[in-house]
Amino acid sequence: MSGIIVVGAGQAGASIVETLRAEGHAGPVTLLGDEGAAPYQRPPLSKKYLLGEMTRDRLLLRPEAFFAERDIDVRPSARVAEIDAAAKTVTLADGETLPFDKLAFATGARPRLLPEAMSGALAGVHPVRTLADVDAMRAAFEPGRRLLVVGGGYIGLEAAAVAAKLGLSVTLIEAAPRILGRVACAETAAWFAALHRAHGVDLREGVGLERLEGEAGRLTRAVLSTGETLEVDFAVVGIGVHPNVELAAAAGCAIDDGIAVDASCRTSLPDLYAAGDCASFPWRGARVRLESVPNAIDQGAACARAMLGAEVAYDPMPWFWSDQYDVKLQIAGLAKDWTRIVTRPGAREGSISHWYFRGAELIAVDAMNDPRGYMTGKRWLESGHSPAPDALADSAADLKTL
Ligand code: NAP
Repeated sequence: MSGIIVVGAGQAGASIVETLRAEGHAGPVTLLGDEGAAPYQRPPLSKKYLLGEMTRDRLLLRPEAFFAERDIDVRPSARVAEIDAAAKTVTLADGETLPFDKLAFATGARPRLLPEAMSGALAGVHPVRTLADVDAMRAAFEPGRRLLVVGGGYIGLEAAAVAAKLGLSVTLIEAAPRILGRVACAETAAWFAALHRAHGVDLREGVGLERLEGEAGRLTRAVLSTGETLEVDFAVVGIGVHPNVELAAAAGCAIDDGIAVDASCRTSLPDLYAAGDCASFPWRGARVRLESVPNAIDQGAACARAMLGAEVAYDPMPWFWSDQYDVKLQIAGLAKDWTRIVTRPGAREGSISHWYFRGAELIAVDAMNDPRGYMTGKRWLESGHSPAPDALADSAADLKTL
């Protein structure tokens, strides 16, 4: 019997194999990974794990026995070289061939790297995606060292927060006119820029990197787009990710930003499915690809059920979170094409929320240390309720009455 193969042992892959068993599937299940580690959580990597407040074993999604007890064959060092969709075989890098009945891609995404011409190849230049990436840079987070963060997305901001907290001297550059340009409104970006500056981060927007320079192959200097030169000890690069679509593309699957799937997580080829950061899916009239843990878990579960023949129509309400200093940012909805932002102070000192409207429709909320604003917003978004923007803007009005 061939069974089900899941390619990619991250959060989405783990969710798929767990759900297959939870739903009663009894046939063979194989989870193939290439990081050499059992499935683990990525979010703490740029937060508590980097800060040294969380140990490696606590990163594991499940104890090793969990998979063995469920007869799930986890192979963490099995790099896939090729998938033959017609013959229904997977060929591993070491030449071994595995047959399958159904296969799911949970191949995730990989960080964009600085090109070698800008000398992203110097020692001391670190991407942040895997446990190995973070292990390679943790020792550099020593008080007084000079860190350059390239990119003002969540990776860059979370790494800057950890470094500032540990007493490093931090410069963060963002090439775009403002940080969080891809994922949040100008109001939320300005709030986080002020937070970082208050913690001593030299945060510069509209400043790109010309090149990195080094001595004996190790980073020592950064030349910025302004012409200025900075002496630095190491750099963290958070300039976005590429979805890992190559295996699926080579197998013949349609690609549209990510591996294109329908609401049942089916690719364009029979018996091949995809879920998580690598997959783009139809959502409210558009095609989206969500780079988030909640999506990896929920779409992974939906994918497993679809593989077992259930009727599945994946229609998530996206949500995200980030921790920086003592601030918990919670986001519900997808901030895209908004026409108005409404700002509300939260109940606690220093808490605040920004509400995104497209016309009269509420589409997302960013809540900073404001769990009540977040919970209310999430509930409204899930039920399709839009409060009147002007009423919401009245900070004296109780959320309950809206
Ligand atoms: P990101 O959100 O795409 O942000 C990267 C930022 O770097 C963008 O603002 C980008 O600007 C900028 N940039 C690109 N090239 C640059 C250059 N040469 N110099 C200076 N700035 C440059 O991606 P990310 O922060 O790297 O995060 C990677 C992934 O991890 C994402 O999927 C993210 O959602 C996920 N993640 C999530 C969390 C969370 O939810 N809490 C935390 C960490 C990571 P342009 O857009 O103009 O290129």
